[in-house]
Amino acid sequence: MSTTFRFGEIEIEAVSDGILKTNIDTVKDMAREKARALVNGPTDGVYLMPVNNFVFRNGQNTVLIDAGCGDTVQPTLGRLVANLHTAGIEPEDVTHIVITHLHVDHANGLVDNDGAAIYPNAEILIHDEEYAFWLEGDGAGSTEILRRKRERNLFNMKPYLERTRRLRDGQETAGCSPVLAAGHSPGHSCWRIGTGRRAFMALGDLVHIGAIQISHPEVNLTYDLEQDRARASRRRMLDIIAADGLAIAGSHIDAPGVGRIVRSGSAFAYEAE
Ligand SMILES: [Zn+2]
Repeated sequence: MSTTFRFGEIEIEAVSDGILKTNIDTVKDMAREKARALVNGPTDGVYLMPVNNFVFRNGQNTVLIDAGCGDTVQPTLGRLVANLHTAGIEPEDVTHIVITHLHVDHANGLVDNDGAAIYPNAEILIHDEEYAFWLEGDGAGSTEILRRKRERNLFNMKPYLERTRRLRDGQETAGCSPVLAAGHSPGHSCWRIGTGRRAFMALGDLVHIGAIQISHPEVNLTYDLEQDRARASRRRMLDIIAADGLAIAGSHIDAPGVGRIVRSGSAFAYEAE
């Protein structure tokens, strides 16, 4: 599945990796009944979360935003390469991969089960702080879960280490510039793509459930590692996006995940494109 959007001269293709079956109980800071009513979900609390990826062409560059799950998570996921193919894009065409953060549904699809690179020509673009958290240091004082995730990230990134570019806020490569929006993970970043009102912002996991967290930006999910920081980043970034009139491309916003954020009362509302 893929859908094409155009903002000025920027054309982005939303390409699905599939659907993650999760549960509304992952929502914190809100009564379960209210959360369920907002998503209009089934009574058993199941929540079907899309995993969206995006491709953006810029001159000679073909930039993929995040890499999906591969076949490591659920059988309904790992469709990215097949869906790229349907959209006329092969893995060898990809020149850059923006990684919003190193979590399973964004990074495990970088490699096959033997650890070989899926994207033979792509340079990885990642925020310096996300790289440092997962791939540097010895993880001392870390929990067992974080240690296992660190190991998996070394596996994901190993064939790309010689072609990884670490960026900080304000730096740009291939028209992409990170904005640190930490909390969900310590170096989680949104990416501003293009310039001025023709730009769009790749949200990563700033928002997991659009029907809840755009109108209630104070609501986190259990997936957010540093809760206070995640909350503050969400509010700050939604403010910037609304003020600048940017389009958004959200990893888990209702598929295909492209729209706009507008102010609504003391919070925000989402308008699908
Ligand atoms: Zn995610």
